[in-house]
Amino acid sequence: MSFESLDYAPADPILGLSEAFEADTNPDKINLGIGVYKDAAGVVPVLNCVKEAEKRLLEAGASKSYLPMQGSALYGEVVQALLFGDGAEPVTAGRVATAQTPGGTGALRVAGDYLHTMHPQASVWLPNPTWANHPSIFDAAGVPTQKYPYLDSENNSVAFDAMLEALAAAAAGDVVLLHGCCQNPTGADLSLEQWQALGQCLVDAGLIPLVDLAYQGFAEGVEEDAGGLRVLGGLCPEMFVCSSFSKNLSVYNERVGALSVVGATADSVQRAFSHVKLRIRTNYSNPPAHGGAIVTTVMSDASLREQWLDELRAMRERINGVRRLLVDALHERNVPRDFSYLAAQRGMFSFSGLTTEQVRRLKDEFSIYVVGSGRINVAGLTETNLGRVADAMASVLIA
Ligand code: PLP
Repeated sequence: MSFESLDYAPADPILGLSEAFEADTNPDKINLGIGVYKDAAGVVPVLNCVKEAEKRLLEAGASKSYLPMQGSALYGEVVQALLFGDGAEPVTAGRVATAQTPGGTGALRVAGDYLHTMHPQASVWLPNPTWANHPSIFDAAGVPTQKYPYLDSENNSVAFDAMLEALAAAAAGDVVLLHGCCQNPTGADLSLEQWQALGQCLVDAGLIPLVDLAYQGFAEGVEEDAGGLRVLGGLCPEMFVCSSFSKNLSVYNERVGALSVVGATADSVQRAFSHVKLRIRTNYSNPPAHGGAIVTTVMSDASLREQWLDELRAMRERINGVRRLLVDALHERNVPRDFSYLAAQRGMFSFSGLTTEQVRRLKDEFSIYVVGSGRINVAGLTETNLGRVADAMASVLIA
């Protein structure tokens, strides 16, 4: 073995862009690549409910001994209530088991490791397009992936019929990854009626949903954004949910996520979960505690929870507000395309439809960083930088 002969690894399509952004010396550079929420001043905020929870945790001075492999039991209860609703049947019937994981990414990787070990014949079907890290995570876990069509780029909406048609060809026992809300990168979500029809299709074909819910509360609200997941929970006997507090509690670097497994019975879910714990043990052994403790402190205190919901609402409303401002700004600049769909999309991202060449020009000529697929993080727009972004977009679209 020698490091001398190694080629460099390819840059990550999203984090690699952040490295290029850091290296750019233009003082007016704008990063619309990485998916972090920024407030009106362009700062990734620490929420007041989080600051208060951290103060209480410091005062309480809890032990720093190991957590169990699946993390804190209270954290699991909090996650299940947020996902399925208070008193929901899968939870009260003991059909859900939750592991606290290092972020939503950790949840996806543990799910991948579990599938590779216990169901090696299963493929994971990913929407096309999807978050760039999805295929990489399942590849790394040795899980085969397939794609199903998701975006109707003519109408900038979900290609629902094509999606169902493709999934009908999947083999029974395969897993279908679905974005619970705020689809990344398109911002185009399913309606409740579509979730219902999709759930029936999954049941008929013997497919198991894996819902990735990384943005609960960023589209319409905490309860509303779990609507699709809850529809599937009522129809499908088994499912996986990979969730995250990175965005909705703005605790990105604390790495706070969860893998929840739903089984047909309380006994079967514990069988599967025992293998999930084994995968955790041989990977990172047990999760970091601090982020999970922030979550349980906020969610177990009525006033802190109320404060969180208010702060989350403010983030959501700011994103939806800048979406409208961007549409208006592009319209005022007479761009040769109707961008009104950007205002209807939900969550941090919009699929701008910019070509790779136009994205390159935004970076090279204007120091505006957008993911190569044309995905824009609208949560990175502020009233200060929005005019410059609209000018630059108009310039690459027109000339
Ligand atoms: N899933 C999707 C769709 C995401 O966009 C992200 C983060 O960007 C994640 C999962 C992972 O989030 P985390 O930072 O909690 O690992």
